[in-house]
Amino acid sequence: MLLLAARHRSWQLRLQIAPFGLIVGREAVLRSGLCGEAGTGVRLRFGPSPTGFLHLGGLRTALYNYIFAKKHGGSFVLRIEDTDQSRLVPGAAESIENVLEWAGIPPDESPQRGGPYGPYKQSERLDLYLKATETLVMKNAAYYCFCSPQRLEILKKEALRMRQTPKYDNRCRHLTLKQIEERLAQGCPHVIRFRMEEGAQPFEDLVYGVNRLEPASVEGDPVIIKADGFPTYHLANVVDDHHMKISHVLRGTEWLTSTSKHLLMYRAFGWDPPAFAHLPLLLNKDGSKLSKRQGNLLIQNLSQNGFLPEALLDIVTNSGSGFSGNRLGRILEELVSEFDVTKITTHSALLDLDKLPEFNRIHLRQRVEDVSSRQQLVTELQALVAKAFGDELIDGEALCTDYVERVLLHRKGHITRLQDLVSPAYSYLWIRPVVLRQQMLNLSTEGEKICSVVVRLLQTWPNDSVTPAELNSELRALQAQFTGTKYSVMMKFLRLVLSGQQQGPSVAEMMLSLGPKEVCQRLQRVIIN
Ligand code: GLU
Repeated sequence: MLLLAARHRSWQLRLQIAPFGLIVGREAVLRSGLCGEAGTGVRLRFGPSPTGFLHLGGLRTALYNYIFAKKHGGSFVLRIEDTDQSRLVPGAAESIENVLEWAGIPPDESPQRGGPYGPYKQSERLDLYLKATETLVMKNAAYYCFCSPQRLEILKKEALRMRQTPKYDNRCRHLTLKQIEERLAQGCPHVIRFRMEEGAQPFEDLVYGVNRLEPASVEGDPVIIKADGFPTYHLANVVDDHHMKISHVLRGTEWLTSTSKHLLMYRAFGWDPPAFAHLPLLLNKDGSKLSKRQGNLLIQNLSQNGFLPEALLDIVTNSGSGFSGNRLGRILEELVSEFDVTKITTHSALLDLDKLPEFNRIHLRQRVEDVSSRQQLVTELQALVAKAFGDELIDGEALCTDYVERVLLHRKGHITRLQDLVSPAYSYLWIRPVVLRQQMLNLSTEGEKICSVVVRLLQTWPNDSVTPAELNSELRALQAQFTGTKYSVMMKFLRLVLSGQQQGPSVAEMMLSLGPKEVCQRLQRVIIN
């Protein structure tokens, strides 16, 4: 604001000579950019306000922008919209960018990466907004407003009393240059408002179709520069989309009604607007709005709890629309190739978080099956095991890469998160269970014999590639040697001795995971006792 005030003198002159009237820009929102080939300037941006950490709703908006950009060989820009200084959350801006990297949808241009149209934080672009505002004031498309908060409050109360929608009465539109100069000289607090003319053109939203809104009939002239000298969202957004050469604006449907206002600004500047596509709302399963206060939606919490980025991307696109089909287990490349903006529907999408474990199970299995990503999982699981069991671990072997990898290969498709493998149900994989003699006797009096027979079988263990089914039939064949113990009881007994549990994976799989040496150790404890 100081800057504006300092420039005010020269503006006055220009204001006097500036012709009244607006330069008319291209009105129609073009679909043509959609067909853009690689490198033809398709540019999308994700513009989060760092008033909180990224949640699934924000991730979805970022993802659709990323997918759209990549589908058309374009660029994906991250722009931090931090003009509301009173609501900033420390660390949120950096965290949002880190989350995008983690999710596998990194921006091509951003505060951390930089780029040709930076800076990418609105708080670092203030001069640009002031210059743009100067242009608008010169064109008589914006004006100083000195109305006090008290006056605005009275207007609001009066409108409510008359059962009308409160709106600014545009009083300061009519101030003379002399009045403006006097008030500025007195140091009166002020804002700059955009002169919102009647005559907004209809525009075609790529999702919602033709929109006819006349913002001037429902609201007063909007503030574009606040008393603290910062721009409001509306101005900063338009100025940045123009200067950053954004070709398509893809954002939440809550901004659909602001778009006509933005288009009036484009017209006032004489700029071509980008194409607009608004995404339907993403709601909780019960139809309520997603809130930044819902900790279970925060990406950083979901990540800490073992949910994979692929699963998050899959669930937010599955609950929405915009793809040729909806099938579970899609990875990013498939999302990009199957995306079709014309398939985005206007009805709200419901996010069913209860399904998230299932999405994660599928993607975790895919990761385990992929040799390169499996190594990373092995490292992560080793860290989880060391943290959970520390000194109790079976003589160090439990942390061996081969062992951990084998466990993962056997359990893929059964676990929903890596963390499941350090839960009590799976503790037998890492520490030897304590089994009371009486527990064994309750199951079978032939326990020692069962153990000896199985130990003998293990001595002829064929090789590492034996399958659970093959081992299982070997075990079944052993049962003939026992007169008083049924096959099912024999299995229960072995399960108890090996894991201390009554339920879990098949005994054959347990044995294959633990390996012959460890299985023998556990069985021999029974024989020796
Ligand atoms: N800063 C706005 C938000 O966080 C972005 C809106 C837009 O994309 O135009 O919702």
